[in-house]
Amino acid sequence: MIRRDGGQCTALHSTGERCAQPGSDVDHLVPDSLGGSDELTNLQLLCAWHHRQKSSSEGGTAAAKVRVVTARPRTSHPALDD
Ligand SMILES: [Zn+2]
Repeated sequence: MIRRDGGQCTALHSTGERCAQPGSDVDHLVPDSLGGSDELTNLQLLCAWHHRQKSSSEGGTAAAKVRVVTARPRTSHPALDD
């Protein structure tokens, strides 16, 4: 999955250019909380900044804050095995 996205953030700027930041976060197109799967088709690579933007627009800042504090171990994510 990281290879599929070229190790780069897949978000687009308002100019239509692709974000040049390295992708460091795995994002669910359909959030876990809405029944999104861990299939590759539901995952995309984002930089930390875009992931934060998306997360905060998705479901309240409280949840996003908790997520940052928890800092789940990245190595356990199935998408990172690809
Ligand atoms: Zn980005």
